[in-house]
Amino acid sequence: MNLTQIEAPGHEGVYRIEDLESGLLGLIAIHSTQLGPAAGGVRMRPYDSFDAALEDALRLSQGMTLKNAAAGLPLGGGKAVIVGDPVRDKTPGLLQSFGLAVAQLDGRYWTAEDMGMTPADMAEIARETDCVAGLEQGSHASGDPSPITARGIFNAIRAVARHQFGSDDLSGRTVSVQGLGNVGWHLCRFLREQGARLVVTDIDATRASRAEAEFGARAVASDTIFDVDADIFAPCAIGGILDADRIDRLRVKAVAGGANNQLATPEDGHRLHQRGILYAPDFVANGGGIINVATEILRIDAREDWVAQKLEALDRTMDRILHAAKTRDVSPHYVAEAIVADVLRPDAA
Ligand code: NAD
Repeated sequence: MNLTQIEAPGHEGVYRIEDLESGLLGLIAIHSTQLGPAAGGVRMRPYDSFDAALEDALRLSQGMTLKNAAAGLPLGGGKAVIVGDPVRDKTPGLLQSFGLAVAQLDGRYWTAEDMGMTPADMAEIARETDCVAGLEQGSHASGDPSPITARGIFNAIRAVARHQFGSDDLSGRTVSVQGLGNVGWHLCRFLREQGARLVVTDIDATRASRAEAEFGARAVASDTIFDVDADIFAPCAIGGILDADRIDRLRVKAVAGGANNQLATPEDGHRLHQRGILYAPDFVANGGGIINVATEILRIDAREDWVAQKLEALDRTMDRILHAAKTRDVSPHYVAEAIVADVLRPDAA
């Protein structure tokens, strides 16, 4: 297994990892260890090129710095990507090679599940390194983070409802949800329990039909989710979906969801604001998952209490962001970035 540092301005260290025997090709990107070891999952996707994988790793690792700081965690930002089809190319040998790469970074990077990865894969990686979380077994194992991620997003939806409609009662409110995977599904359940009406979409038609049967949701075709009349839109699938064209099409009063990097560009935060659509910054709204994972990295004993306290703090942070955005007439994304920049000031306590 070869680990080679490559040049990437703005990042503390970016490493190309390659193992010809197992077929591993990927990257570990450490954006910042200012607040603690860089933590962020490993994603496996059939990227079109190594450069596309590099771009994803750089963007996602920077996002983890923001997310971990916003969640008040003593963790920095990092992310790893593996080039390949998780169904076809993932083997125990490839995962162990990746574990060897993580081990060579001497605790500067902690990995966990991201797209294309499962808790069983984490167990395979853990054969070569201790710096892995999201395990199902072990003294501080934290398991699947998705229900806690969804709980945090549900709280963010209530926060935008409070600020936009004057009440966080969701009964009778319509929420459109894009993506019914691990996060989106749990979120729909929480919303339904509170009496919200659901309009859903997923490129996997069976998931959409299940949501119709289980939650009484109305399923729509994938791209039409942006044209749906709803109170709140919850993107829970992929990143980069909020661009100028789609923001123009939105017929909602707020956006709060779980997907990472929802804004195609930072200016799209401003576009939403100009249209009067209140946006819950994604890296704050979806911090529940890393809070859950952090209990394993930091070896927290009273896990449930600790997670509950951190989620409450995240809620307060969201409230503060939305309040400041309204008072200053700026986008919540802008305020959230400023708050994190403050936490990351070199002279911050
Ligand atoms: P997942 O892979 O389980 O689910 C994603 C779902 O979106 C799938 O059902 C997929 O078919 C669907 N989908 C993909 N593209 C779509 C499209 N264009 N239109 C409609 N549906 C589409 O992933 P997940 O774990 O639920 O995560 C969802 C998002 O939340 C991702 O962006 C992820 O990075 C982010 N996130 C997840 C967690 C977590 O705890 N799982 C934590 C933080 C952020």
